[in-house]
Amino acid sequence: MNLPQPLQELIDQFESLPGIGRKSAAKLAFYLLNVPQDRLNRFSQALTDLKVKTHKCDRCFNLTENKRCSLCEDEGRDQSLLCVVEEVTDLLVIEQTRKFNGLYHVLYGRIDPLNNLGPEEILAPQLLSRLVKEGGKIKEIILATNPNMEGETTAMYLKSKLEELRTKKSLDFKISRLAYGLPMGASLEYADYGTLIQALDHRNGF
Ligand SMILES: [Zn+2]
Repeated sequence: MNLPQPLQELIDQFESLPGIGRKSAAKLAFYLLNVPQDRLNRFSQALTDLKVKTHKCDRCFNLTENKRCSLCEDEGRDQSLLCVVEEVTDLLVIEQTRKFNGLYHVLYGRIDPLNNLGPEEILAPQLLSRLVKEGGKIKEIILATNPNMEGETTAMYLKSKLEELRTKKSLDFKISRLAYGLPMGASLEYADYGTLIQALDHRNGF
């Protein structure tokens, strides 16, 4: 049986999203068919506005509706601390901890040689030019790329570029990396060797 074209189109659109199969797509589309029209209008308006009204902050590349994001505009944040993350979703997770009060730089990706993603694919030059432009205000750069092969490769690349820049421009910042270790509530017995070795290497005084 052929479904009405608008319904079929919506199912196809849902199915093209990550993590949604044919059945879930149909379920969502049929659900929306029973939702009041004004709610559907708000839903459709949100989709229309998504790309049009969302921009990258011209300083840290976080997402914003304005030229600068709210984190960059907040003068109460520590202007000497800069946390470098792969994606905006990483920034959001760090923000949720309420533990970090510095600034960010979003790379929009990672270096992944196996998938032909080189340094030119990430916003690394923007990080370097920002450091020069902000003239030594930043005193520590935390490389918070993911603790996997690609994240490590990216961190190593950035470290060498940052060290080069620090010498060349006589800047004074230290470079740090998020600590590795065992997740809270974990049991040693089930930890993988890589994590356990990192936890031993980066053990803290107690
Ligand atoms: Zn910003």
